[in-house]
Amino acid sequence: MTLFSEFTFSNCCYLRLIVPVAAILVLLLGTNGVVLGQDYERKWDNFESQQDLGPASTKSKTSMAAFGNDVFPLACGERPSTDQSNYDVLMYDIFLKITKSDPGFIAGRVTCLAKIVEANTETIEIDLAENMTVDSVYSPEGRLDSERDGEVIVVTLDGKHNEGDTISVTTFYRGRPIFCGLQGYDADIDKFRTINHLCISTLSEPSSARTWWPCKDRMDDKADSFKIAVQVHAPLDQNFICVTNGHHDSTTTLGETARTFYYTESHPMSTYLFSLAISDYGYKWEDTWTYKDNDGQKIMPLYYYTFEKNSDLIQTWGAVPDILDLFSDWFGIYPFADEKYGHVNFQAGYAMEHQTISSFPWAESLKHDTIIVAHELAHQWWGNMITCESWHHCWLNEGWARYSEALFRESTGGHRGYHAYMNAIKCTLSVGRVYVDDTTDINAIFDEELVYNKGAWVLHMLRHKLGDSLFKAGIRGYYHSDCQYSSATTEDMRDAFEDSTDIDLHPFFDQWIYGEGYPIYHWSYLPGPANLTSGSTERLIYFRVEQVQTATSQVFEMPVDLKFKYADGESKIVRVEIDSLLNRFAVRVDKECDTVLFDPDKWVLCEERHVDWRGIIIPDDPSVALHNGTLDSLYNDTIYTSSEIGKCKFEIKDVDSFPPGYKLNPDSGIISGTCKETGTWVFTVVATLNDDITLTDTATLSIVVDTVIKSRIESYTLHPNYPNPFNAGTLIKFDLPKQAHVSIDIFNILGQKVRTLVNRHFEGPSSQEIIWNGYNNAGRAVSS
Ligand SMILES: [Zn+2]
Repeated sequence: MTLFSEFTFSNCCYLRLIVPVAAILVLLLGTNGVVLGQDYERKWDNFESQQDLGPASTKSKTSMAAFGNDVFPLACGERPSTDQSNYDVLMYDIFLKITKSDPGFIAGRVTCLAKIVEANTETIEIDLAENMTVDSVYSPEGRLDSERDGEVIVVTLDGKHNEGDTISVTTFYRGRPIFCGLQGYDADIDKFRTINHLCISTLSEPSSARTWWPCKDRMDDKADSFKIAVQVHAPLDQNFICVTNGHHDSTTTLGETARTFYYTESHPMSTYLFSLAISDYGYKWEDTWTYKDNDGQKIMPLYYYTFEKNSDLIQTWGAVPDILDLFSDWFGIYPFADEKYGHVNFQAGYAMEHQTISSFPWAESLKHDTIIVAHELAHQWWGNMITCESWHHCWLNEGWARYSEALFRESTGGHRGYHAYMNAIKCTLSVGRVYVDDTTDINAIFDEELVYNKGAWVLHMLRHKLGDSLFKAGIRGYYHSDCQYSSATTEDMRDAFEDSTDIDLHPFFDQWIYGEGYPIYHWSYLPGPANLTSGSTERLIYFRVEQVQTATSQVFEMPVDLKFKYADGESKIVRVEIDSLLNRFAVRVDKECDTVLFDPDKWVLCEERHVDWRGIIIPDDPSVALHNGTLDSLYNDTIYTSSEIGKCKFEIKDVDSFPPGYKLNPDSGIISGTCKETGTWVFTVVATLNDDITLTDTATLSIVVDTVIKSRIESYTLHPNYPNPFNAGTLIKFDLPKQAHVSIDIFNILGQKVRTLVNRHFEGPSSQEIIWNGYNNAGRAVSS
C-alpha cells in the first residue's frame, strides 16, 4: 500500500502460478468417482437461463460510505468464526455478470473445487456477506441443501465424505456488495473527482472478498488456481473491458451487447488478491521483460491500462523491467514470470498489489512515484507468492514491501541513498509491536509505523546482523521454502533464515517482532593503556554501554558498529555485541584515535547518546588501584573516580571480604582505618551517580594487608621502577619510615613534567607500590 497527498493509499500484492490444463483436468476427478464433465459445462453455459438475476433497471450505486477523515474507511467488524478446517480449496471457477447500466449489481456463479481433509465430512462452510442472495447451491450430482448463518453459507454435501475425496460445490448468487474494509467491490464514476470514467473495481484486502463472491476467505488456504470469466454487458461500448489476474485466455462476444473475458490464474492465490478492474481504458500499452531461468532466456509480457496518454505516467510505470531485474536478483526470479505483470488504474484510495496486475489510483502525485511501483511489485514476492498466514503477521507482506523500497533506493542512490531512505522511515514508537494483536482492527493491521516501517527496519537490522551474503542466502532460502506459493508465519520466515545461515535467530525475532520499543544506549569511552606490544602503536579503549530505555522492560541483544577515526584520516570499524543492560569491554585499536562513533551507519533501531565517562571506578587500570595496607597501621587511600568526584556514592557490596577495621566513607570514597588481620582482601564496590541520569557501576578492588618490620624502614627510599622500559605498565615502589605527604611526578627526557602520579598523604611506616600505565595527565600515552 502507498499513501498520496490526496488520500490514504495502500499497497497490496498479487501472485500467480501456471498449471498445465491437463493437471487441472486431473483435479476434476474426485476420488469418490465424481466427474465434472459435460453437466458441469452445461451449467456454465446455461447460467443465465437458470438464474433470476434480479432487477437490472435501478441505477443505485453500491452502498458505499463516503471517505471521511479516518485513515481507513468503514471496517466490517469482527469476522464470524467459521469452521473451515475440513476442506482444502483446490480451484475456484468463477463466472460473474456485470452490467454497465447497473454497475453496482453483481450476479455470479462460483464453483469451489476442494479436497476433503477430515473424515465423515457432511457439511462445509463458505463465506459470503449477509446482504448477498444465494439462489442455489449445486454439486455435479444435483442441488444441495444450504442455509444461512450470518455471513456463512452452510452447505450440506451429497453424503459423507472422507479424507482425500474431491468435492465440487457451485454457488449461484447475486446482490449489491456493501462497501467494506478498504473497499471491497465498488462501481463509481468520480469518487475522487479525478477519473470521470465509470470504473468497476475491487480491493478486497484484508477480508472483503466475501462481500462480492462466495469463498473460503482466509489466507492459510490458497486455491491452487483460478478460472475467471467476467461477462460485461455494455451495449455498443467495446472499449469497456475487464482486467483481472493471470493469463488472458480469450474474449468472446454476445452480439453488440456483451463480452465475456476469460482469464486463468495458474498459481495459488489468496482470495483477497482476486481483483476486477472494468472501465473504458482509453490508453493501453504493452512492454516486455526479458529474464533468464534454467531453460535459458525468456520474455514475459507487461500490460498497462490507463485512461489517457500521459508521458509522466508512462515514464514512471516504465521502471518496471528494471525493478523486476533488481528484485529477481535479490529475491529469486519474479514468481509469475510464466504469466504476466501489469498495472491498471482503478477507483480506490490505495494502490494494491493484485496478483500479476497491480492496481493504482488515478492520482496526479502517483504519476511520478516510482517508489510505489517498486512497493507493489515487491509484493508479488512478499504477500502474493508468500502470503502472511494471518493478518497477525502482516509485516511479512508490508514490512518486506517497504524494505524493498529501500533496496530500490539503493539501486539508484547507492549506499547513501539506502541509508537515507531507511533513516526517513525510522519508527520511533516506544510502545506497540510489529505483530498485530487485534486483527479485527484494520488500522492495526496496516499500521504505517509498526507494520510497515518497523517491519522494514527488522529486515534492515537482519541484514546488518547477517551481513549481505548471508542475508541474501536467507532470502533465497525463504523464497524456495515450503512457504513458496503458500503462506507463512513469522516463525516460518525465521526458520527459513536459520536453515540458510545456521544462525540462531530466535532472540532477534522475539525482541523485534513480539517485543516493544527499541534500545536507548548511553555510551562512553576512555583511552586505555598504550604500547600494548613493544614497538606497536596499538592501544586499548575502554567502553561502557548502558541500555536506559524505560518504555519497555526488554533488554536488546544487537551487534553494533563502533567507528574509530584516527588522526591520520584513516578509520576502522569494529563490531561489538551489546546484549545486557550494562556492557563493559575494551576494544584494541591500531593507534591513537581522534573520534569514536557509535553505530555510524544507523543499522540499529535505537537512540544513542555519548555521555561523559561514567565508569566511576576504573578497575582495569593499575595506576589507580588501591595501595597496600600495613598491619596495625593507619590506612588511608581513595577509590579512584573520574570527573564526577564528589557526586557519587560508594558502597561495599560484600562487607565480609573487606579488610576488618577499615571503613569506606560513602561520599568521599576514602578508605581509612586500622586492620589487625593480614591477607589479600578482594571486594566489590558499587558506585552510584545521581546526575541528569542515574548510573551505577561496580568494580572489584583489592587491598593487600601485610606485616612490615618497622625498624627496617629507616629512610625515605624510592626504588627503581620495574620493568623499564615497559609496555603496559611499570611498578614504582617507595618506603616511608613514618607518615608523610608524598608526591611523585614523571618527567620526560626534556625535563617536562608529563604526569603527577601521586600527590597525597600516606601512613607510615610503610612500603608502597604504585603502577604507572604510561599515560600523561591528559590521558595520552607518552614514550617510555
Ligand atoms: Zn503494501
